[in-house]
Amino acid sequence: MFEDKNLQTTGKRLFNWKSILGVGLVLFLLGGLAMLVQPAAAQTTSGGLTTADIDSLLYMREEEKLAHDVYVTLYDLWGAPLFTNIASSEQNHTEMILALLNQYGLADPAAGNGVGVFTNSELQALYDDLVSQGSQSYEAALLVGGLIEEVDIADLRAELATTNVAAIQQVYQSLLSASGNHLRGFANAYENATGDVYSAQWLNDADVAAILSSSNSSGNGNSQGARGAGGQGSGNGGNGNQGNGGSRR
Ligand code: ZN
Ligand code: ZN
Repeated sequence: MFEDKNLQTTGKRLFNWKSILGVGLVLFLLGGLAMLVQPAAAQTTSGGLTTADIDSLLYMREEEKLAHDVYVTLYDLWGAPLFTNIASSEQNHTEMILALLNQYGLADPAAGNGVGVFTNSELQALYDDLVSQGSQSYEAALLVGGLIEEVDIADLRAELATTNVAAIQQVYQSLLSASGNHLRGFANAYENATGDVYSAQWLNDADVAAILSSSNSSGNGNSQGARGAGGQGSGNGGNGNQGNGGSRR
């Protein structure tokens, strides 16, 4: 339904990015024997961050800002409190990333940028497209919210899988948990507004089903029992990334 060139571009970006990481991992492993002699200091910069960590922080700073800016804009259009409530959560998220940028002495890509303005051109195009889609109807706006959260979950999982920095892992884990809450919020509102079941837009179906069936307060709940054999058999945690993972090497 939301075939989206910009999102596909984002997907390609992740794909390419992962390809680079995959090659880097192979090189790292090949270099492993040599590392026995020399201390492991490969590809780290000042502060112990890899270039991948830095790229990740710069991107997530603006991706969380994108979520905030889209929701603020959709709230102005449709007036549903859900948008402004989740927007304030996204404001916290982008500020948590900013705190990490400051901690590591990295320049803020969002500095001086108002609502709807992005340094990353892919995110700028994505913002424009998502606002355009969400302007068509309240129901379309709720789907845009769900899509943003699904993409955010996929990106955060991918970044978590590649960073070894505890401070980054802690923040990303918190953002990931919140994104699950937000996805449930948009999916419930969509189902209330349309009577239709929310369908996965970016993650796989089983993955979204598992997220939607878990509770907001704890990540565990009764989701395994509730989903039955079919859902859990192929869709337990992390499978959303395996489609990419299989094709990246
Ligand atoms: Zn967020
Ligand atoms: Zn969110």
